[in-house]
Amino acid sequence: MLKELERARNLVRSSGRVVILTGAGVSADSGVPTFRSSEGLWKQFRPEELATPDAFARDPETVWEWYAWRRRLVLECSPNEGHRAIARLLLSRDGVTLITQNVDGLHGRALRELQSEGVGRDPDGTVREPGATLELHGNLLRSRCSVCSESDEDGPEPGGGGNDTPLPRCPSCDALMRPAVVWFGESLDPGVLDRAMHAAQDADICISAGTSAVVHPAAGIPLLTRESGGSLIEVNPEVTPLSPFADIHLRGAGAEILPRILEPPD
Ligand code: NAD
Ligand code: ZN
Repeated sequence: MLKELERARNLVRSSGRVVILTGAGVSADSGVPTFRSSEGLWKQFRPEELATPDAFARDPETVWEWYAWRRRLVLECSPNEGHRAIARLLLSRDGVTLITQNVDGLHGRALRELQSEGVGRDPDGTVREPGATLELHGNLLRSRCSVCSESDEDGPEPGGGGNDTPLPRCPSCDALMRPAVVWFGESLDPGVLDRAMHAAQDADICISAGTSAVVHPAAGIPLLTRESGGSLIEVNPEVTPLSPFADIHLRGAGAEILPRILEPPD
């Protein structure tokens, strides 16, 4: 394992373009449950029953109540050392793109945490532009209109929960606001997906961390790097459908492994 870690670290250091794809496992170390863990359930509902346009059309109160619960849950959690190592890489060198399937906003919070600690500032004080973060499935802390293109960065406090709070409505067209996430049966934002696919194709190395690699099209992204001649590193305690294609498989938790391969030794 030590040898593999060393190999992975050298690969990251010598690669011009790096893509990191993350999934729910990276946030599991912060205490955010994955959908497939038993703590991922809410009132015995399966996510597939709630995270759909049909569920929202039928029963927006219950769907908002579930998202209000998930918002509270992620706001009680903090970015872990894996999020921080990725954020440090985005801030400290060029050619890094983060593609995440997570909707918990923890990558963004890690980035802001490090920026407030002064990371990513040149010696003359100029703030460097971090590498791109592409949120493939949106962000549950934001809301958007269910009909027009209005969006709300901060996300209004959702109603629901049986306390007679009215559900949030669009300031432009008065339709119901909804969480700004991609639901089962919906397409990803084509612009975001296109940028992610190009970044993966152009990358010298792709690190796939904490994803079961079964939800498409995200699961195919690391293979684009492989097909164009780049290397693939997988960080996951378990074997996934991607494992046979990985040049290096690091079995362990993201919070432990990512800092060891992304950060330069002291
Ligand atoms: P998943 O739940 O399908 O798989 C999680 C993967 O993480 C598994 O392969 C597991 O072995 C691995 N894992 C578990 N603990 C880990 C750890 N400590 N470190 C590294 N890896 C660990 O997650 P997915 O592949 O992201 O797909 C689930 C879908 O559900 C995504 O589309 C995502 O949008 C959504 N989701 C998001 C969140 C979140 O934002 N935190 C949480 C649950 C689900
Ligand atoms: Zn609207």
